[in-house]
Amino acid sequence: MGKLKPSLLDFTQKELLELIKPNFRVKQIYGWLYHQYAKNFEDMKNIPKALKEELAQKYIVNPMKIVKKEISTDGTIKYLFELQDGKTVEAVWLKMKEELTDEAGNVTQEAKYTICVSTQVGCKVGCSFCLTAKGGFTRDLTAGEIVAQVVNLKRDNDHKHNRKINIVYMGMGEPLDNLDNLAKAIEIFQDEDGLCISGKRQTVSTSGLSSKIDKLGKMDLGVHIAISLHAVDDELRTELIPMNKAHNISSIIEAVKRFPIDTRKRVMFEYLVIKNKNDDIASAKNLVKLLSDIKAKVNLIYFNPYFGTTYERPSRADMVAFQEYLINHGLLCTIRDSKGIDISAACGQLKEKTERDL
Ligand code: SAH
Ligand code: SF4
Repeated sequence: MGKLKPSLLDFTQKELLELIKPNFRVKQIYGWLYHQYAKNFEDMKNIPKALKEELAQKYIVNPMKIVKKEISTDGTIKYLFELQDGKTVEAVWLKMKEELTDEAGNVTQEAKYTICVSTQVGCKVGCSFCLTAKGGFTRDLTAGEIVAQVVNLKRDNDHKHNRKINIVYMGMGEPLDNLDNLAKAIEIFQDEDGLCISGKRQTVSTSGLSSKIDKLGKMDLGVHIAISLHAVDDELRTELIPMNKAHNISSIIEAVKRFPIDTRKRVMFEYLVIKNKNDDIASAKNLVKLLSDIKAKVNLIYFNPYFGTTYERPSRADMVAFQEYLINHGLLCTIRDSKGIDISAACGQLKEKTERDL
């Protein structure tokens, strides 16, 4: 990022304690960042002007601004952010559960939200079915740029700091290709004085860089992983995800077996279903075999077509038959509903916008 100033969101609380004196100010500043979602130094009312001026020489607060917001009929909101260097990324606010009230109007269940964040501008992996891949790779996001997506979405939706939220790393980019910044963001999210989002509320979705799955496992951050499997044989998987050549299916399965997971939990395998490619019962049968000795759950995803692709969305009947086969053979399996499809916020539909698109 050259001469651009780092954001305060780039640092863990421990690092800020090294950078900012006196130390008691760090807790206050942390509160401004993660409880009040301050946008700039002026917002930080109880911090002395001299300290704010000193900090403003070296740091910024919010490394991105919202340049576009699209609201879906189902409550999903897609955000387009412009970063300091003019590059853009997207994040999505997903309503997972509606608020429920009883007859007297009391809230019996709060609405539940998940934020889908990006980890890179573009992506290097180049999957043949993915819209993000079409724009190529531009750069990694910094830890602060990953963290800022959540802070900005919580602020924009007036979501109080102590309300629970889930994070899925399923936006633009391959999270494990930016592992250091990802790990730092995960750590910052977990800080109990900050956003307090535990590892078990964070899911890292990967196209299967097996060596990096091991590395993430060794960091012991307590996060879940989701594997974008999509195919049960290496030939088709390599057609869909070129780096399957270097990280084939068996290397991924072995890495998953080594990954530390909560014994009550399951590893999620995402299976993108494409018409006449991998939607047949023979594939379902092989999937059952492949996952036979793993505590797995499968999430079937309808391929979301976009302009210019030759792949097609599978029929609902084939999708349901596939799911039933898995369930009847002992695998937990859900079909992902494509949230925000009317605004292209669904998986794999995130793409960097050129100025023309804005
Ligand atoms: N790079 C990571 C995370 C981002 S992609 C990964 O690949 O896992 C998030 C999910 O969207 C992945 O499971 C990906 O395979 C899926 N996806 C990509 N393109 C899609 C499309 N056109 N339709 C449906 N899902 C898609
Ligand atoms: Fe990258 Fe994931 Fe898209 Fe593949 S599916 S190109 S890994 S963002």
